[in-house]
Amino acid sequence: MKVLIDNGHGIETPGKRSPDGRFREYKYNREIARAVVEHLQLRGYDAELLVPEEEDISLKERVRRANYLTCQIGHPVQETIIVSIHVNAAGNGKRWYNATGWCCYTYYGHSLSDELADCLYEAAREHLPGHKIRTDFADGDPDFEAPFYLLKYTYAAAVLTENGFMDSQLSLAFLESDEGKKAIIALHVDGIENFIIKRSHEPL
Ligand SMILES: [Zn+2]
Repeated sequence: MKVLIDNGHGIETPGKRSPDGRFREYKYNREIARAVVEHLQLRGYDAELLVPEEEDISLKERVRRANYLTCQIGHPVQETIIVSIHVNAAGNGKRWYNATGWCCYTYYGHSLSDELADCLYEAAREHLPGHKIRTDFADGDPDFEAPFYLLKYTYAAAVLTENGFMDSQLSLAFLESDEGKKAIIALHVDGIENFIIKRSHEPL
């Protein structure tokens, strides 16, 4: 199984920061994504960053990279997964809110992406005790569904995680703490590992 970790946005992306400008989403996403890749590699998995650059890489180029890596000779589509790491916002960045919580998105319909999301939800509940886990059971599973570009156009199973809120001081206090970073990294690593182990017991 190949694991592609995406980190949203880039150094030049307007907005995508705390109302005081101190917290930058692109930077946090990259810090978490790098650590997730390193931990997965240490556990022996084939994990890599989709966007090693600090700059924002267009969604079209991210999808091109992901689909290229997914379709490399010898890799069936089911043998690649994509996890895109983000931080949520309650508003448009002009003022502070009190939002907290973790959630995960997939594209519409039921696919392998939903099974990956289930594993991440399970790991989130384990690593974020006492924190709000945001769910949408409208279609029978906990993840939210949205036509995000990366989720819609990638061939492989793909999910997008929203790890807390960048316009909430309460949320940022946790996200930026050592404990918070460790928990966010661990939920991705364990959720992905659990998915891989589950898949290895199922016929393709
Ligand atoms: Zn984002």
